[in-house]
Amino acid sequence: DSDAVIDVRIGALGEHGTLLLADDLTRAVRVEETRRDFVANVSHELKTPVGAITLLAETMEDAAEDPDAVRRFAGRMQSETHRLSHLVQEIIELSRVQGTSALPDAEPVEIDDVVSEAVSLNRNYALGAKIEVALGGADGLQVFGSAPMLTTALSNLISNAIAYSDPRTRVGVSVRRDGGMVEISVKDQGIGISKENLERVFERFYRVDRARSRSTGGSGLGLAIVKHIANDHGGEVTAWSLPGQGSTFTLRLPEMGRTETITAGERRAA
Ligand code: ADP
Repeated sequence: DSDAVIDVRIGALGEHGTLLLADDLTRAVRVEETRRDFVANVSHELKTPVGAITLLAETMEDAAEDPDAVRRFAGRMQSETHRLSHLVQEIIELSRVQGTSALPDAEPVEIDDVVSEAVSLNRNYALGAKIEVALGGADGLQVFGSAPMLTTALSNLISNAIAYSDPRTRVGVSVRRDGGMVEISVKDQGIGISKENLERVFERFYRVDRARSRSTGGSGLGLAIVKHIANDHGGEVTAWSLPGQGSTFTLRLPEMGRTETITAGERRAA
């Protein structure tokens, strides 16, 4: 393992000179530690649903004579399998965004399109919840980046807002511009998050209430994915919450104005 770190160090030394050495070494060690933690967490998280499915299959075998019981177990196996496949999907998504610091296929992205796509992805899931969209002032707002990634990020925020609220409450999605940044906010009237937890919700696999998150099919990866995508776009994601009152998650992304378009083009040409 330490060989890999030293390799990175020598590579960086040859290319950039000695000054960067310490920093690159720490970075390489940090990347390696993060990777190791991630693998450990993934294995741990996968064990739970796989264990449950195994147990259900065994129990089902014992209950073979009782069609009602078989049906019941089959139903539970289906929901465990569903959860497992959602988890695997999010693991793949996170390792994809973690692995890249540059954006693949970056291009001008219309914020309206991202919002309507993310909202429509959540329509069926919303059931009783009412998603209200306020695009005030978002007309023609653009950012430079990846539309599918931004849609994933916003969709994760919207699905959380729905998951952690009572049915038939309101979820508001609004867009505004603020000092060269585009701000997309998702506001719910749900259970909210306490201050101690709010500081940790962006960590991978962190869930405030594992039982509730499990029943909503949560993996604890959604917000980590959002954070990566925001950072990759030169932006950030912030959260505000009052327990019992609701939460607001805000994505802030650099707005792509006319000047920036030219600069980005020149930069590419250079
Ligand atoms: P999960 O898949 O569990 O939803 P996330 O990374 O998306 O994982 O969120 C991490 C945790 O943050 C959730 O388990 C939940 O406890 C909390 N959380 C996220 N969004 C909200 C929200 N809108 N309202 C209340 N709690 C939330």
